[in-house]
Amino acid sequence: MQPEIFFDSEKCTGCGKCVQACPEGAIEIHEGRSRTDRGLCQGIGKCAEVCPNEARSLMGKHVTAGEVFKEVAADSIFYQRSGGGVTLGGGEPLAQPKFAISLLKLCKDAGIHTALDTCGYARWETVKQVLEFVDLVLYDFKHMDPVEHEKYTGVSNDLILENVKRIHHDLSVPSIARIPVIPGYNDSVENIEATAKFIITELGNETNVHLLPYHRLGESKYDSLEKSGDTVYITPSSEEHMAELKQIVESFELAVYIGG
Ligand code: SF4
Repeated sequence: MQPEIFFDSEKCTGCGKCVQACPEGAIEIHEGRSRTDRGLCQGIGKCAEVCPNEARSLMGKHVTAGEVFKEVAADSIFYQRSGGGVTLGGGEPLAQPKFAISLLKLCKDAGIHTALDTCGYARWETVKQVLEFVDLVLYDFKHMDPVEHEKYTGVSNDLILENVKRIHHDLSVPSIARIPVIPGYNDSVENIEATAKFIITELGNETNVHLLPYHRLGESKYDSLEKSGDTVYITPSSEEHMAELKQIVESFELAVYIGG
């Protein structure tokens, strides 16, 4: 939820300028290179400004909905020609609903198609208020077993599944079901079958399914955030396994795409 400092240790010469510049005293030199106490760092970015070697950079910044919309509006001709639009992703856009509503409303007023990419874990009132300005929902299905869901995400899937049913039945906003396929976590035949069964039963066959193969693009970011210890190394699924899962979803007469 906050800007963070990316650090490339290969570029650091240990000059100490960042140590002097940090108002929080969050940086020290250790074994010839700078090291950040992430608990103290406020993501202000003074260290990035003074680093002579671009070893530090500030990722993320606070912006208003109006500022983002200016960027969006600059590409509006492109959206008209391509039939595209704006997708709010994340992170999680429902975690900052006021901002999401302001930006989506600006887009809708300008006639720009809007989509929301969400995990669906939010109070129904919040979901309803945001979706008033959304044309299409990209909805994550991580695991159908509530116990497994809680084990890996920290929360049960009860609210998430209830919300997607209400989006379909009460609001009639079209959705795409997105399943991030994480080997060893949710890629079993049983889980994919259970997910497809839920989608066809509750959302109908007009809901397309996207199977999203796990990728490793995030791993280098953990290094840059000095959080390598948090990295879980997972081998992506084989093409054969993805094809098998696709066939399972198709057997429920749902349209399925690998990727999304
Ligand atoms: S200012 Fe840059 S090069 Fe100097 S110690 Fe800090 S990160 Fe390293």
